[in-house]
Amino acid sequence: MKLVLIGIQGAGKSTQGNLLSKQLDIPYLSTGHIFREIAKEKTSLGRYVKELMSAGSLIPDEKVIEIVNSYISKPGYSKGYILDGFPRTTQQAKKFKNHVDKVVHIHIPDKEALWRLAYRNEERDDDTIDAIKKRIEIFKKHTHPVLEYYKKQKKLISIDGMHSIEEVNQEILKSLGKQIVKDEVRAWEPKENTI
Ligand code: AMP
Repeated sequence: MKLVLIGIQGAGKSTQGNLLSKQLDIPYLSTGHIFREIAKEKTSLGRYVKELMSAGSLIPDEKVIEIVNSYISKPGYSKGYILDGFPRTTQQAKKFKNHVDKVVHIHIPDKEALWRLAYRNEERDDDTIDAIKKRIEIFKKHTHPVLEYYKKQKKLISIDGMHSIEEVNQEILKSLGKQIVKDEVRAWEPKENTI
């Protein structure tokens, strides 16, 4: 299965992505994670990426596409993947060479994203309030059209992210036609009515 997770920061994409990766046995790939690693490098690309990320700006499409395509062509990704943070612009969606089966949009209100950020355990250099606000603005401007793009292709699934991790996970699995029964992923079947 080739999945894309979309949502503003704090929506729970990486939590859900890692869970789904274990449950469906397919690799999880976060472009944010890749760029945070590149930003640590003492190279001109590293410094450039760090500067853009700290400001909450997007990395140029060409660079992102080049990096994602090179990762996805590795053997581990042939049977499927879960992409987190890509594509973020319609240009990236159109230039992505590989297939996408379903796009899961986990949505939470902007205020909730800022609230969750304040209680986040993991420290990130680009987690300033200004950078987060900028990312939310960019999401509306550049990523909403990506949702429309996949909606037209009938690949978009909308999930309410304002529930517990388990509930959101179950909703996603259900929308993919799957469920967990005794720790195993199975095809989703409605529960029989009990009187
Ligand atoms: P994330 O962890 O997904 O919130 O990404 C953190 C930062 O990495 C973003 O604010 C961007 O600077 C950069 N980034 C990650 N994915 C992309 C992408 N698909 N296109 C452009 N920039 C990206």
